[in-house]
Amino acid sequence: MAPGPIIVLTGTPGTGKTSTAQLLASSSTSLTPPLPLRHINVGDLIKEKSLHDGWDEEWQSWDVNEDKVLDELERLIDERPDGEGLILDWHTCDAYPERWPDLVVVLRCDHALLWERLEKRNYPMNKIQENNESEIMQVVLDEAQASYPAEIVVELKSETPEDMEGNVDRILEWAKVWREQRVG
Ligand code: ADP
Ligand code: MN
Repeated sequence: MAPGPIIVLTGTPGTGKTSTAQLLASSSTSLTPPLPLRHINVGDLIKEKSLHDGWDEEWQSWDVNEDKVLDELERLIDERPDGEGLILDWHTCDAYPERWPDLVVVLRCDHALLWERLEKRNYPMNKIQENNESEIMQVVLDEAQASYPAEIVVELKSETPEDMEGNVDRILEWAKVWREQRVG
């Protein structure tokens, strides 16, 4: 059996990447035949494996060491079992080699709603403002479109639970077709 697809799931912090990835990963096993998608929360991986050069007080975030992140992800990609796909959940996407993703999903959210979500998370004001502006200016979407072929980049609205379910269904449909094209 061939390896499963690599799905890059990206978007401004708060747009719903982790919630969507969790639902996607749990739903992926119920496909017939199953096409398990493993959720990799890259931010958590950075913390767990210390793929950073320390804590940035001003931005209240890790000073990410991209080389270390890419090495670790490459290892996970190479070592994944046959038939298993990966969901790479991270708020940025232009660091990955162009050959990695089979699909790049950019989640989008109304900026006022995003503001509320980030306030609930107790983000510092400078981070809320930065992310809010970034969502308005569609920074992550531009980044995705500049880094990967247009035909693999998809922008999906993630404002309501119905949006999330619909997005997961769409990605699973895509995964089925992806597999059929490879397995025949
Ligand atoms: P991210 O991983 O992109 O930072 P999360 O998945 O952690 O985002 O979601 C941030 C918050 O927004 C969570 O409280 C989550 O429940 C909520 N949320 C995300 N997407 C949706 C959605 N489509 N509908 C309703 N709430 C959502
Ligand atoms: Mn997250």
